[in-house]
Order: sequence, then structure tokens, then C-alpha cells
Amino acid sequence: MSQDSSSLDRRILIDSISDYLAQLGEEGLEGIPFEPARPSPAQASEAVAQSAQGALVKSPARPVKAPAEVGPELFSVYPGLETTQTLEELRNFIGDCKRCKLAPGRTNLVFGVGNPQAELMFVGEGPGADEDERGEPFVGRAGQLLTDIIERGMRMRRQEVYICNVVKCRPPGNRNPEPDEVAACEPFLMRQIDVVRPKIIVGLGTFAVQSLLKVKIPISKLRGKWHELRGIRMMPTFHPAYLLRNPGDKRLVWADIQEVMKALGKEIPARKG
Ligand code: SF4
Repeated sequence: MSQDSSSLDRRILIDSISDYLAQLGEEGLEGIPFEPARPSPAQASEAVAQSAQGALVKSPARPVKAPAEVGPELFSVYPGLETTQTLEELRNFIGDCKRCKLAPGRTNLVFGVGNPQAELMFVGEGPGADEDERGEPFVGRAGQLLTDIIERGMRMRRQEVYICNVVKCRPPGNRNPEPDEVAACEPFLMRQIDVVRPKIIVGLGTFAVQSLLKVKIPISKLRGKWHELRGIRMMPTFHPAYLLRNPGDKRLVWADIQEVMKALGKEIPARKG
């Protein structure tokens, strides 16, 4: 490669990194400057090196590393949590949890349900009224739609997958969980993921996905692309409750689910008609 084409490539790379950072800033990603200065050639080289290490990866062909992946230090908040080896042990560890302010309002702690060795895990935001009442995630109307996606769309049984939420107790009035509640409950979800160790995680809805990936990017921009959480491929998609209000977007969820099926080596059913 000549020196001219090499410096042209470098200039294109610098421009594309600048544009990408500006786009992330507009979307509210914390820690990224809104108007990034154009880097010097030396800074550009450093950015390329960081990209090669996975710090800033945009290629759709590779999973994107979560910007703030949670390390083992998260478990130190609850000594002994990291020693739980099964879901039963983890559930016993959580016990009659009162570690955050959601505890007094719950009827049942909604831990999770499904196959402890599932290849596929769905993670939603938190229990609603039906889930709180029954102690099981995704059992209301939105839950029925998720079951349809799994059973009629993916041709799997609901019992084959694992389903849980970011927080285990119902936020009052179905509001979003607050940051301190997420922080208190997150170690349990991370341990749940480590214990089940699925091949694929599907993040359901804005709140769950933003909490898992530690970003503020809208779900409409995150969905349909592979991300990575604790070394596991993660596909964000819309929450079934959103689909009940916006049935026209079911086709987008089906496109995301088809990607998941391909990654799991499952046959995609032919479209009727
Ligand atoms: S939401 Fe999580 S941390 Fe809070 S009380 Fe329930 S189980 Fe405990």
C-alpha cells in the first residue's frame, strides 16, 4: 500500500471514529464527549489500537463488548454470592430479600423460571402485577405474547428456555426500577447468568437492555444487532408489552428472533402465503 493511500485510509478512519463518537454523544451515552475533537494522527493510532482490543468495536459481524461489563467485584457486595453453583443455591442465598426498597411492596419475589441448562435466556425489566401475584415472570398478556414467540415462532417449548428479570420484585405502579434498586438486584441477575450460562441472551425492552449494557441508546437503535454480556452473545429486541401497543413492530421482533434462531442453529420456518 502506498503512503498516500495509507494516509487516506487513516483520514477515513479518523472521520468515521469522530462521527461515531458524535452519534453516541447525541444518543446520550454516558462518558462520551458530545463534540469530540478531531484526533491527531497519534491519537488516531491509539484509537485504532483500542478498537483492535475490543474497546470500541462497531463491526456487525462481531459481538459488541458491553461498555461496562460487570466484573467479579460486583459479587463482593454480597459475600458468598459467588460461591452459589446452582439456581437453587442462588435462590436460597437471595432468601426473603430486603436489600432494596422494592421489598415491602411485593407479594412474591419473582426469581426466574425455566430450564437451568437453557441455551436461550430472556431477560425483561421487572415483574408486573400478574407476575407479582403468581411469583413467575412473564405470565400476563405480555407473557402470553412471549410464550407465542417462543412456542409458535421459534418452535421451542417455554420450559426449554430460561426467563427472568433485571429486578426480582415489582416496582410500585409498574414504574421503571430506580438505579439503587437495579444496583441492589443486579448481582443476583449476573450470578443467574453465570450459573445458567446460556448460549444466547435476548434482552427485552428499553429498560432491561439499557440496564444490561449500561447505555442510554434507544432500543430502536440497539435491536437487531449482536452485543455481548459476560462473554455471552446478546440480542436486544422490543418488549412484548410494547408489541401489544405497537403490533406493527412484530415483524422487527421476528427479524431479531430469526437471528437468534440462526445463532442457535435452528431452522427458520418458511413464511406462509
Ligand atoms: S428487587 Fe432484588 S434486591 Fe430488591 S428486594 Fe427484591 S430481590 Fe432484593
